[in-house]
Amino acid sequence: MTTAPEATPCTATSCHRTLRDWELAGQQTICTPCVSAIRAWLHEIPNQLIVLGGSLQRETTGTVGGRGTRTAPLPGREDVLNLIGPAAWSDVHDPHGDQHGPLPIVGVLGAWVRIVCEERRWNGPDQPTPDALALWLGRDRVLDWACRQPWAGEMRDELWSLIRTIRGTTRVRPQRRPIPQPCPRCDSLTLTETDWETYIDCGTCESRFTRAEIALAARITAATLGAA
Ligand SMILES: [Zn+2]
Ligand SMILES: [Zn+2]
Repeated sequence: MTTAPEATPCTATSCHRTLRDWELAGQQTICTPCVSAIRAWLHEIPNQLIVLGGSLQRETTGTVGGRGTRTAPLPGREDVLNLIGPAAWSDVHDPHGDQHGPLPIVGVLGAWVRIVCEERRWNGPDQPTPDALALWLGRDRVLDWACRQPWAGEMRDELWSLIRTIRGTTRVRPQRRPIPQPCPRCDSLTLTETDWETYIDCGTCESRFTRAEIALAARITAATLGAA
């Protein structure tokens, strides 16, 4: 006697998907779109840091150009310092709640890098700078393993909260652009690329492709049309 299995939710509370059969078979605790999102956020952080650093420098040196109305207001110096300020490598989850404002980027990323390093006995990045921590955590090898851990949902929630805080400070958001080419798998015209994301997504069949795969598909389509 078999009953239909209950849908298993993605363990990230900030995600409302249920896990697909192949994700469960692969022992993922978060869904593949969450893994893609985490990878994209981690690759976005070094770019956001340039904006944060720039705004701090403008404030320090006073070299703000013009008064153009198209320029977004500068992030407050205190917000920026909170985000890019140093965090003790060990004092990360702030159990005493004595830290005000958002945890520095280094604190949030460093905590997760440390957990991965301890459990896997891997070496973390040489320098615990925000860029290095983000790119290290965003490696495929790290994420492939992390997405199967019981804490993956918590990691997703924390990184989502971090990236939202960063975007709220810089007012820089990744842009999505449609790609005028049919999906190689389902033929729908719903491919989009997003800044700093490794993969191009199909909004219909949820497949993901590398830019090389999309370029190859375009050449095959062109060759087929040429031969017809
Ligand atoms: Zn999810
Ligand atoms: Zn598709």
